[in-house]
Amino acid sequence: MPSANRPIPSLLRAAGLILAAAAASACVPALLPEYGSRLRPVWRQLDSDHFRLATDLAEADAERMIRDLELLRALLVEATGTRGVPERLEVIAYAAGDGTGVHHRADLGREWIELSGVADDRVLLAHELAHAFEARTVAVPATWYAEGNATYLSSLAHVSEAGTASAGGPVHGWVARELRRGLVPVRALLGWNASGFRERDRPQSATSWLLVRFLRSERRAAFDELRGRLARGEHPQRAWDATFPEWSLAAKGGPERLDRLLESFALEPLRPEPAVRAEVSPRVTARVWTEAEAAALDPRAPEAWKPAEAAPHLRGTFGDEIQLVSTSREPDRGLARARAQLAALPEDPGAWIALAAALPAWAEADREAAIRKAVDVSSWRGDTRAFLATYLARRKPEEAAREATRAIELAPWSVGAYVARASALWTLRRCDEAAANLERIAQLRWRVPRFRTATEDLRQAMQQRCRDP
Ligand SMILES: [Zn+2]
Repeated sequence: MPSANRPIPSLLRAAGLILAAAAASACVPALLPEYGSRLRPVWRQLDSDHFRLATDLAEADAERMIRDLELLRALLVEATGTRGVPERLEVIAYAAGDGTGVHHRADLGREWIELSGVADDRVLLAHELAHAFEARTVAVPATWYAEGNATYLSSLAHVSEAGTASAGGPVHGWVARELRRGLVPVRALLGWNASGFRERDRPQSATSWLLVRFLRSERRAAFDELRGRLARGEHPQRAWDATFPEWSLAAKGGPERLDRLLESFALEPLRPEPAVRAEVSPRVTARVWTEAEAAALDPRAPEAWKPAEAAPHLRGTFGDEIQLVSTSREPDRGLARARAQLAALPEDPGAWIALAAALPAWAEADREAAIRKAVDVSSWRGDTRAFLATYLARRKPEEAAREATRAIELAPWSVGAYVARASALWTLRRCDEAAANLERIAQLRWRVPRFRTATEDLRQAMQQRCRDP
């Protein structure tokens, strides 16, 4: 228990440290394909109603991909309802690669889909898109839940000649092959913890699909209850035990009883959901990236290609920058370099954030303007808005709370947005509401138990201060 007269660090500073730790641990090392030759690929940016696609695919393939994404999005809306639909998504598609996809979500709220060598794999496109839809219902799902649902929904990619498609139908061939080889025990599946696709996770992925199919078809009401508990932030294993006491991890032989049910369910034919239909005619615009953009934004570009002003991590998650603006440290970054980056990448929010972080302490008005510009050029992104809310938390707390709320709508998993909102509410001395936001941070970081202790310490210190100003 912190004592009332011992000084506590400002909430924002402490929360900034929590966020910086989170950003570091959330990094997913992407396995990017190497360039096969020294030839520079042509990079294009395509924009449609709901997607921004950056790719080195050939023009016709890129155009087909963004139209496929729009169609799959419309089918997902038909199949899952309009709650929790992503407003706009960024997709990076590498022409080369081993046929993998990852749906990335960073702690500040950044989200993007990364595809390698999958121009024609619409099932994988639907799978990654389904992750983005699900992330808006259950912000930080257990791995089996995320993978099972995304695979379940990915059968929407098989569109019939009549233009219809169903969730719960056939998916990739390897899924059925894995199941024929044998199921992963439910006890192991419930403890499965992975992010991103790894070859060795195929058995877990396949059994997750089977488990989701089983629960949706045989225990629909309970499955909806489980989803509700997870959406409210309950710890996944406690939510499971409360929803399915007969298969609880605490009960002797609990999950093993479900193993036997799944084994017989696996032999039954697929029962797809009622077919849905969608038609789209998206407006697509395309432009070729400049050499500076391609060199700065393609993480595979060799150093030799990069102009001096190209920052190595402009597509990053702003961990250092948020520390800087939330702790009012004097920047030590090169201002000239930041301005040169911005000249090369005027539409990149990362370049505006880099400028904000490089401006000297006396240029607060310019810093605020640069952060607002980062939000303007990325209005669909939760992370830049969470960044603005963090910056404003002590200066303009009412506006900061509004911006953080908007960031949470866009990216419900954004630890950074909850940190910013807690800080703004603390500045306004709305302590109970601030405490509720701290509680949410601990729920979102359920994979890291020490976050519960850290946020609990912070909450107690804060409420002490509120009682005893
Ligand atoms: Zn997945």
